[in-house]
Amino acid sequence: MLSWNDPIGFIQGVTPSMRRGFEALDMRTMGDLLTRLPRRYEDFSSEKLLYACTDGDSVTVRVRVKKASMTPGFGRRKLVRAIVEDASGSASALFFNQPWLMKEFTAGREIVLSGLISVHPQYGRQITRPAWRPVPEDGILPVGEILAVYATTRAIPQKTYRRIVERALAGEPWPKTEPLAAGEAPTGLMGFAEAFRAVHLPTTLAQAEQGRRRFAFDEALAYRLGFSLTGKDIVRQGGVAMPFQETFARTFAESLPFPLTGDQKRAVWVALQDMEKPVPMRRLLQGDVGSGKTAVAAFLAAHVLRGGMSAALLAPTDLLAVQHAQTLRRMFAAHQLPLMLLTRTKQQAWLGHQEEVLKKEAANVRARQGGIILVGTHALLQEKRIPADLGLVIVDEQHRFGVEQRQFLAEATRADGRLPHLLSMTATPIPRSLALTLLGDLEVSSLLEKPGGRLPIRSEVCVGTRRSSAYEAIRAAASRGEASFVVCPLIDPSDALGKASVQETERQLSTGALAGLRIGVLHGRLKSEEKADVMDRLLRKELDVLISTTVIEVGVDVPHATVMAIEGADRFGMAQLHQLRGRVGRSSLPSRCFFLTDAEGEPLERLEQVARLQDGFALAEEDFRRRGAGNIFGTQQSGYLAFRAVRWSDMDLLQKAAQLAREMVERDPELEGYPWFRERVRELRESSHLE
Ligand code: ADP
Ligand code: MG
Repeated sequence: MLSWNDPIGFIQGVTPSMRRGFEALDMRTMGDLLTRLPRRYEDFSSEKLLYACTDGDSVTVRVRVKKASMTPGFGRRKLVRAIVEDASGSASALFFNQPWLMKEFTAGREIVLSGLISVHPQYGRQITRPAWRPVPEDGILPVGEILAVYATTRAIPQKTYRRIVERALAGEPWPKTEPLAAGEAPTGLMGFAEAFRAVHLPTTLAQAEQGRRRFAFDEALAYRLGFSLTGKDIVRQGGVAMPFQETFARTFAESLPFPLTGDQKRAVWVALQDMEKPVPMRRLLQGDVGSGKTAVAAFLAAHVLRGGMSAALLAPTDLLAVQHAQTLRRMFAAHQLPLMLLTRTKQQAWLGHQEEVLKKEAANVRARQGGIILVGTHALLQEKRIPADLGLVIVDEQHRFGVEQRQFLAEATRADGRLPHLLSMTATPIPRSLALTLLGDLEVSSLLEKPGGRLPIRSEVCVGTRRSSAYEAIRAAASRGEASFVVCPLIDPSDALGKASVQETERQLSTGALAGLRIGVLHGRLKSEEKADVMDRLLRKELDVLISTTVIEVGVDVPHATVMAIEGADRFGMAQLHQLRGRVGRSSLPSRCFFLTDAEGEPLERLEQVARLQDGFALAEEDFRRRGAGNIFGTQQSGYLAFRAVRWSDMDLLQKAAQLAREMVERDPELEGYPWFRERVRELRESSHLE
């Protein structure tokens, strides 16, 4: 019999190539497989006439094909649109990436479609990505069938995926017993074991939704438990008190090239107050791209150094580490503050105007001595490089760091066993509603004000052929000596690092709409020196256009970049689109952002919403409301609050989960009576930001 932590490979019928397929989807164990919710359901259970279909209905319709046409979408994404009708009305059925359907959908053919209906004021009735089949010979449709559709890769077709899940469920692999004591789960919530069947093998959609609600409750509860317990541990371990130095703070503020915004001042001030206590600070600084988080980081690092301790600033990429080091150097120009950059390939130290390139060993020795501000990537996270007097760790975009690195950060203790203060910075705002119920104990500072008279970024959605206006804007920008970004989505999970998408786009644009411009490419398969080189060329204005994956999403600062074009924009989350947009509009030059798409209906509306709203916090809230918590942080496997099941409509459940978590921790701080949740919390601690 299989258990929760057994590898997926143990399930009968799972081949090594499927196992690798699951790994590419970040699934390794039976638990991973069973807790991953289907992306949607195909509903064959109710047959309707077209005129009776209303927006949001899941239906099966029996229709006749009137005509079918194909438009070339972005990259390999071809769109087949079949106009279909029955005696009562008509609708269009949309299929992506299945060009062969053109041969199937001959005019007059009778077919059966099952899927989600949307009714759009402009485009009328639409069924997007329906399941289809010919009308059976006997004319009788099988009803009562609901199929889960999973996010999967080519290595594991839907049918196979379903069969594997079914086997896993049939084998009774997981502890089927309710992990909560009687009366603890809110009344009306579905039972634990029942929920797994409901989610994966539902007989009605209502049942699937009940199962999802149970998943959402358990997920919220595990997070809340994790936050509470982590907080307790941190207090127990103790930190270093850092006296507030008013004179230095004032001098430093005055020496900056700009006055801090009110929000920046407040963020600095509360962090300095936190650090005065012998309890390790665990603070989150959230602020939109361009809100000036780096200045806050620089301020705190300088203050800590003056207080006689070391500080470290960690960035998720070499590129950003180098940029941060340069920014800090500029901000420290008026002070003698020793600064050192440590990446995988480079060790460089500065003091005032002196600059020195160091050998690895020498750099490690210098770092360990302390009294220094270190800037680096995770390469910095090695015992032999950690200063003995480390007082503050600042992490930029912590969710981009890997599991072990996060663990190192959480546990990075000084020689005396105490924990340094920690400030996490993120450009992905957590929706307020979610933050309030789930992160109650986490201290959060927010930078809402935009510094220094920025212009709003003119955003527009370009559907189909209107994308040419984006390319015209790029050409116009190039003629003014300004830079542009073109961002491509990942088409296939097997292209996780984006090389194929980027190269394909480059090939199309360099011989087409952007021919003659100087184009560079950036994707995850390039070596870090190659990446740095491309960025340098862009900064030196030797390139007009950078075609890239979302690598550039995190913090890259190219002041003369004024056009952002996002291909396949419907594939990104709203918050992520907003972050990408924030790569332009970083100077006094007017900037534009184009969302290129072939989407219609709800995905198109979403894009129009992003184009209208400029406020990242409002967008995060909207994204959460529309698509649930799982999408807030984009398509990347982000461990940062990686909710999968929680949705906007679950607020009542979240509150109950928070309440129950408090009671459980109070009564049973080691969670001895809750082995299943103890295990979940352990997993979360490895994968998520709980500190
Ligand atoms: P992010 O929050 O995205 O990391 P940065 O720290 O990179 O933002 O800051 C974006 C830009 O704004 C930088 O060029 C920085 O010099 C500038 N900046 C930061 N704070 C201020 C301020 N108070 N006034 C004017 N410009 C500022
Ligand atoms: Mg930044």
